[in-house]
Amino acid sequence: MLEPLKMAPVFKEAIWGGTTLKTKYQKPIVSDKTSESWEIAAHKNGQSRVCGGKYDGYTLNEISDKLKEKLLGDYVLKTSPDKFPLLVKLLDCNDKLSVQVHPDDEYAFLNENGELGKTEMWYILDAKPGAKLIYGFNKDVSREEFKSAVENGTLEKILNYVPAQTGDCFFIPSRTLHALLDGLLVAEIQQNSDTTYRVYDHGRVDKNGKSRELHIDKSVDVTDLSCGVGNEKVIQKAYELDGGVRYDLCKCKYFCTQKYVVEESIELETGNQSFETIIVCAGSGEITYDGGSMDINEGESIVLPAYLGKYKICGECELLKSYVPHEE
Ligand code: ZN
Repeated sequence: MLEPLKMAPVFKEAIWGGTTLKTKYQKPIVSDKTSESWEIAAHKNGQSRVCGGKYDGYTLNEISDKLKEKLLGDYVLKTSPDKFPLLVKLLDCNDKLSVQVHPDDEYAFLNENGELGKTEMWYILDAKPGAKLIYGFNKDVSREEFKSAVENGTLEKILNYVPAQTGDCFFIPSRTLHALLDGLLVAEIQQNSDTTYRVYDHGRVDKNGKSRELHIDKSVDVTDLSCGVGNEKVIQKAYELDGGVRYDLCKCKYFCTQKYVVEESIELETGNQSFETIIVCAGSGEITYDGGSMDINEGESIVLPAYLGKYKICGECELLKSYVPHEE
């Protein structure tokens, strides 16, 4: 019998982190610079583990080895047999993140020991008034112009600053220059990769006077130089359901993400092709499935095995569901 897997995250610390994951979601963080919570993670730099149930304490890789397609799904097992394909995080941007870029699969494979590229999506769980982020350039630039702006310290003048509000969604294909800035709490769905090229860190140093490493040559190599204006926010198309509303956020070859606003209860079903991941953005409720039920609360993340089948979410809550779309 299969069951949903509630995950216990791995926490990361950075100069830009804070304590919101504890104050808002009661996460057991220890550092007051907690930047990331790797909620659903099977990466060498962080493995989240199942919390409770039959597989208590298992990593996703351990369960994948045991359940194979029943967890991963037929399509995912076929296309990504050695690596859980997604990484789901919460980010507390108490201060600004560096201006950065991620390579695509091809570049990462050649230059980062076979790592994956990173295409990612942000859903803004909470934004302070006036919060902004950086999404590409404010005009088309040449490689020379980009490079000299980095070297002369004038990069900010050619960046595209975008206001961000609670409930907004942004899709960031690999090679897009970007930065989350201060005052944002974000759910991030991405390829299972930890490769970041930092191009500018706002001239910042840590408490020991040390600045963080930059990767200017690689950034200049991979960055998409076209203007980002007008392409930033994802248009969220709504579909009325029995007992709630579904919003389609984004679909790319790596992941498909939908937001569900559950008003009473909605009925869903996992196909056998891909596992599903759930992040509870707000509210609480219950997942019932063949053989049992599980409480779900704001800030929690759950993996649904691909072969779970029909399930129902009851309560009043808002959640993000992601899966790997299979090609027909
Ligand atoms: Zn990023």
